[in-house]
Amino acid sequence: MKIIIHGGFFSESGTNQEVKQAKQDALKQIVQQGYEYLQTHTAVETVVYTVSLLEDCDLFNAGTGSQIQSDGVTRMSASLMDGKTLGFSGVINIEDVKNPIFVVEKLMAFEDKVLSGKGALQFARDNGFGYHNPETPQRRQEYEKKLNESIRLGTVGCVALDADGNLAAATSTGGKGYEMPGRVSDSATAAGNYANAYAAISCTGVGEDIVSGAVASKIVTRVTDGMSIEEATRKSLGELKPFDGFAGTIGIAANGDIYHADTHPYMVWALHDGDVEVFD
Ligand code: ASP
Repeated sequence: MKIIIHGGFFSESGTNQEVKQAKQDALKQIVQQGYEYLQTHTAVETVVYTVSLLEDCDLFNAGTGSQIQSDGVTRMSASLMDGKTLGFSGVINIEDVKNPIFVVEKLMAFEDKVLSGKGALQFARDNGFGYHNPETPQRRQEYEKKLNESIRLGTVGCVALDADGNLAAATSTGGKGYEMPGRVSDSATAAGNYANAYAAISCTGVGEDIVSGAVASKIVTRVTDGMSIEEATRKSLGELKPFDGFAGTIGIAANGDIYHADTHPYMVWALHDGDVEVFD
């Protein structure tokens, strides 16, 4: 049984010791909770639970504490993939719910598995998900300060391998921050989140780059065809170089190998494979 999580990229992590410490502590605590949950739950159940904890932690850009888009509205995207059934479900640009990942989990049982905007919100309300404003004063302040400044990144994700050898991946994001309304993140696509019987991957970084590189599905395909997860990740991230693509990945292979990597430093992550390890 193994679990790995990420909390996206944070430029402050490189410079602000206080923020770095807070993220290390939060990730450590959440990965421990996730690992404990995994002892008695499947990989799919565990990635949903663990991502919901990350969504609830306002240090990270997903769920409560999501970035605000350029029109001043918070919209969130999330997805789940079950490596055993190959089911993929997702929501794109949903507003006013507390945990997009729980809406995504609910969608898995439906024929229409990926919903966007108003349709996603209507589905959530029809299925008992009440109103929640994900905005925090900190994000509003950042939004007001950064009008027209460069993008800030973040996303959360979790990959798990359960006692039966099944894999799953879940990813949730508030997006790039200050994006055009209607912009679609990679996080609810097979480029940002993918799993099968051989490997599972969750990505963070610039969604456009991750989609151009088909990153998660490409790494999983390479592992399926015989590469190690390390080799597959290095090769796939290497293919982003010609356009200076910005991405980070966490992943687990069915043989138990765990691997994480990023094209630019400072993806924040933690893993638990019996022992806890946190980014430094
Ligand atoms: N991938 C997310 C997006 O482009 C952002 C991130 O991971 O930081 O929406």
